[in-house]
Amino acid sequence: MEKRLKILFSVSLLILAISTVFIFTSMVSGPDESPEEDRIIVAASIMPQKEFIEKIGKEKVHVVIMVPSGADPHTYEIEPRTLQEVSQAPLYFEVGSGLEFELNYMDKIKSVNPDMKVINSSKGLEFIPNPEQGLDDDHGHVHAENEADPHVWTSPRNVKVMVENIYQELIKADPENKDFYQKNKDEYIFELEELDQKIVQEISTKENKKILVYHPAWGYFTRDYGLQQIAIEKEGKEPTPQSMANVIEQAKKNNIKIIFVSPQFSRDNADFIAEELDAEVVLIDPLSPDYLENMLIVLEAFKKS
Ligand SMILES: [Zn+2]
Repeated sequence: MEKRLKILFSVSLLILAISTVFIFTSMVSGPDESPEEDRIIVAASIMPQKEFIEKIGKEKVHVVIMVPSGADPHTYEIEPRTLQEVSQAPLYFEVGSGLEFELNYMDKIKSVNPDMKVINSSKGLEFIPNPEQGLDDDHGHVHAENEADPHVWTSPRNVKVMVENIYQELIKADPENKDFYQKNKDEYIFELEELDQKIVQEISTKENKKILVYHPAWGYFTRDYGLQQIAIEKEGKEPTPQSMANVIEQAKKNNIKIIFVSPQFSRDNADFIAEELDAEVVLIDPLSPDYLENMLIVLEAFKKS
C-alpha cells in the first residue's frame, strides 16, 4: 500500500515538473511573439530609431542599434561586437542626414554585410545647414548630406516622414504582414501628430523664443516650432573664451535663465556660463530610446526656459 502511494506521489511530481517546464517555456517565448528566428533583424544607427522601427514592426522585428545609449554619435567608434551583430541584418536604416557615425562607418558596415539593403530614412526631408560648420543660417544652402544639420529626428514632423520611409521598406521585406505594419504605423503616426499639436499649442504661449543649448541638437525642433537655438559649442569643438563671452552677452540680452545640456557631453563649460548668468543647467536628451515620452519631457523643459 505504502509503495503504491510512493509511486503515485512520484508520478504526480513528474507531471508537476513537466507542466512547470511547459508553462515556463511558453512564458519565455510569449503566446503571440514570433519565434526569434522568424524575426527580421533590422539595424540602425541611433537609439531613437529603435522606437521608430519597433513601433511599426513590434514582435516581427529585432532591432540592432549601432551607437549604444550614452555614447555620442559624432565621435563614437564602432566595436567589433556591433559589427558582428550587423552582419546578420538584411536591412539597415541610416538616419541619412550626414551624422558623423554614418559618414565614418557605413562603408565598414557594408563591407561586413555586402547583401544588406541600406535605406535612407531621411528621404524627403528638408535639411537645414549644419550649425557646427559655421554656415550662415539665413543664406546657407545644403549641397551635400555632410553640410546638413544631422539632428533631423529632434522634430516630430521629421519623424513622421522617417516612419513612413521605414514602413515602406518593412512591407517590401515582409509583404505578407503588410496589414499588421500598416495598422501599427498609422497608430504611431497618430501619436506623433498628437505630440506635434501639443508642442504647437504649448510653445505658442511661450514668450522668450530663444533657447540656450550646449550642443546644437535642436535645430529642427526650433525651426518647426518657432524657436531659436543659441549654441555654446561651435563647429563641434569646445568653445573658445571669446565665443563663450559672446554667448554670455547674447544670453544676458535675451534674459535667458536656463542652459540645456545633453547627457553625452561634459557640462563644465555650461556650468561656467550658468554661473555667469545666474542660470540653471537642465539636462535634456536628444538620443533617448523612448522617443515620445522623452519629447514630452523636452517640451516641459523648453516651456520653462
Ligand atoms: Zn549631436
